[in-house]
Amino acid sequence: MKRRDFLKLAGAVSLAGCASATPSKARVVVIGGGFGGATAAKYIRMWDPKIDVVLVERDATFISCPISNLVLAGFTGMEDITRRHDTLERYGVQVVRDEVTSVDAAKKSVRLARGGDIAYERLVVSPGIDFTFGDVQGYEQAMQAGRVLHAWKAGPQTVALRRQLEQMRDGGIYVLSIPLAPYRCPPGPYERVSMVAAYFKQAKPRSKILVLDANPDVTSKGPLFKRAWSELYPGIVEYRGNSRAVGVDGNSMTVRLEVEDVKGDVLNVVPPHRAADVAAKAGLITTNNRWCDVDWRTMESKAVKGVHVLGDATLSAPAMPKSASMANNHAKISAGAIVELLNGREPQPLKIINTCYSFVSKDEAIRVSSVHEWEPGQGTLIAVKGSGGVSAARSEAEANYAWSWARNIWADSLA
Ligand SMILES: Cc1cc2nc3c(=O)[nH]c(=O)nc-3n(C[C@H](O)[C@H](O)[C@H](O)COP(=O)(O)OP(=O)(O)OC[C@H]3O[C@@H](n4cnc5c(N)ncnc54)[C@H](O)[C@@H]3O)c2cc1C
Repeated sequence: MKRRDFLKLAGAVSLAGCASATPSKARVVVIGGGFGGATAAKYIRMWDPKIDVVLVERDATFISCPISNLVLAGFTGMEDITRRHDTLERYGVQVVRDEVTSVDAAKKSVRLARGGDIAYERLVVSPGIDFTFGDVQGYEQAMQAGRVLHAWKAGPQTVALRRQLEQMRDGGIYVLSIPLAPYRCPPGPYERVSMVAAYFKQAKPRSKILVLDANPDVTSKGPLFKRAWSELYPGIVEYRGNSRAVGVDGNSMTVRLEVEDVKGDVLNVVPPHRAADVAAKAGLITTNNRWCDVDWRTMESKAVKGVHVLGDATLSAPAMPKSASMANNHAKISAGAIVELLNGREPQPLKIINTCYSFVSKDEAIRVSSVHEWEPGQGTLIAVKGSGGVSAARSEAEANYAWSWARNIWADSLA
């Protein structure tokens, strides 16, 4: 065991020892060091250094989904989208590299895979999504054999998909299957189509992209994406709506739809999602067996008191996408509310902003944005009428803003 790992484990065990005792300071435990969790941990410490914050994250590094589609095109590398979690230690956040296996809401403690419990006063859960593989017959077997990938959690599958695209013959077919909404990052699949098309145009111009979308039409920035595909990549992209994948066969490299079978050389099938496993184990899932409903003034779970759920795992408010922008904003709602609650004050609702950029070529991007505010009559956040909108056209300026947005949100969450 490396010295650093030993020290982390020692940290976890010493925290575990505190589980039954009341901590001397109020302690917040955060599960998940992605866009939601890392931001919440940092902002709670910045806004009230009297509160102890422990962040539990199972992965060794943070790898960003935003910009990962550019890695598939070879326009940037994994090192550019990878960050460290221990930067949060400079704010006094204790970072524990481990997996939370269960939550005991009655005892107010979480259990770690490597052993030990950590007690909390308030718990923040931002674990992202897991996939309902069972909705696509044969998926897990084909994925284990390396014949189908989702690459919808940035990491080893991003690297593997890039390799498959590089190894594909010129004249081959790349199939991208998109699940029914809601899924994480509504424009993400269409950005991926654009990035793979840009790569094919330059490296394998006889190749094709077949988009099988379970939704009736492109779910975000549709006219802008379709215009980019027809003007920049004529003959490369074929889009089919209402085409839900129900099965995959890795031997014959086939995606089964409800009415036909489709063959490809590279199969990139994104299965439907739900809130990640730990949310289910903690009893936080309230809706359709998939999502966690929250009070949007505090992000507190409607199912379990004292637990705040953030990011993709939430039952989205009306017109709210599952995005890094939103997870980062959810984190600030929860951080503010937790600081107020632990100091005996009443939290106030916040107004939040979403911005999602998508690259359509190496140098051009498009944007969608919206503002969301608390509406007491409806008891939820609603999109402010007349706010936000989409870019008038793709442009280099939007691509520069997209890179700035990414560098800013990585820094806001983790630097
Ligand atoms: C291809 C792609 C492109 C995207 N592009 C954009 C974009 O341009 N703009 C945008 O705003 N959004 C984008 N997104 C969406 C964005 O990545 C997600 O919305 C965001 O990551 C959600 O943040 P989160 O905190 O909910 O989850 P995540 O960022 O996924 O973080 C969850 C963390 O929890 C950890 N975890 C889970 N369970 C446990 C456990 N039991 N114990 C310990 N740790 C645990 C995981 O390891 C992970 O690090 C994109 C997504 C994809 C797939």
